[in-house]
Amino acid sequence: MLKINENYLKLKESYLFSEIAKRVQKYGAEHPDQKIIRMGIGDVTLPLCGAAVSEMEKAAAEMGKAETFHGYGPEQGYEFLQKAVASYYAERGISLEEREIFISDGAKSDLGNILDLFSKDNRVLIPDPVYPVYVDTNLMDGREIVYLPANRENHFLPLPQPGLEGDILYLCSPNNPTGAVYSKEQLQKWVDFAREHGSVILFDAAYEAFVSDGSPRSIYEIEGAKECAVEFCSLSKTAGFTGTRCGYTVVPLALNFGGVPLNRLWLRRQTTKFNGVSYVVQRAAMGVFTEEGQRQARRNIEVYKENARLVTGTLDRLGIWYTGGKNSPYIWMECPGGMGSWEFFDYLLENAQIVGTPGQGFGENGKGYFRFSAFSSPADTAEAMERFRRLFSR
Ligand code: PLP
Repeated sequence: MLKINENYLKLKESYLFSEIAKRVQKYGAEHPDQKIIRMGIGDVTLPLCGAAVSEMEKAAAEMGKAETFHGYGPEQGYEFLQKAVASYYAERGISLEEREIFISDGAKSDLGNILDLFSKDNRVLIPDPVYPVYVDTNLMDGREIVYLPANRENHFLPLPQPGLEGDILYLCSPNNPTGAVYSKEQLQKWVDFAREHGSVILFDAAYEAFVSDGSPRSIYEIEGAKECAVEFCSLSKTAGFTGTRCGYTVVPLALNFGGVPLNRLWLRRQTTKFNGVSYVVQRAAMGVFTEEGQRQARRNIEVYKENARLVTGTLDRLGIWYTGGKNSPYIWMECPGGMGSWEFFDYLLENAQIVGTPGQGFGENGKGYFRFSAFSSPADTAEAMERFRRLFSR
């Protein structure tokens, strides 16, 4: 009889967002006259920029004509988009060959898929709190996970610690959920650690476009990173592609383990299990990388960053401790009065009709913390922060 992968049975239910939805729905049903403001969402709200839409429309028209129709494309992405991504990195002084860039349907799939290349008996080092995908994809394979505590003492930016070691190491900067961003010096410590231990760093740069203070946007800004790190990036938050689906994964040619180049393995994996991102979507992504597309995408990011400033300004005035919000759409605050994450969630919903995300849902170290996202509309964010200020100025 067929044997299933029993590791799936060990996964915890993805309780966080369903529990939030349940509590919000219950409150809404009991108070139909009250306006609930959602500050917990991780999805964008602004539409695709014009440059992406016009490229997508042109590509759709091409697909409808025999002379310009496209069937299967290259599994690793069209050259036009690989080149555009390479130029995007080159602007920051990072030189990549096109064959080091793999176009994906978003960061989430590749963050899971890359694990195909690694033996299941590797140990995994994952910061806590964390984007839950890193944990669940490894649990599905039955790998042992070592958690790296991120807390107020280390500003939610844990550094290598003796005794906490792993072969596969996840770093996400700017971070989801904490919004914290590593400095160059801190990332150098991780790169040195990985090279010393023969570990691979899986660097999630999904929020790189929110960095505006010169902090690193790519692990490849760090010396030696091409010998130890794979980078995952996405147009989801950069350009509103959460529903359109396009990203890219960088696997440097210099990345070798036991004499085996990871780039060759990943190419083999992709050409076997993946048939590429649609032509129309890759053209839309190309639109984002044009000069005009970059201007438009940056304008949208500025809207979210202004929302984040409203939140951090409110917390500053109230003297509430937080991290994030400066180079990130996420603000990670300490729950006032020593409240627990879920206790604060209920308090905020009942007293100000604001919904955020309890930090506890992202790991043990999230207990007592709460995440706001800056992806709501400016009007809703302003209203939520006015309510919040009134509630805590009483
Ligand atoms: N990585 C992080 C840290 C995220 O927060 C998200 C989405 O919320 C993703 C990856 C997934 O991005 P994508 O939409 O490209 O799959």
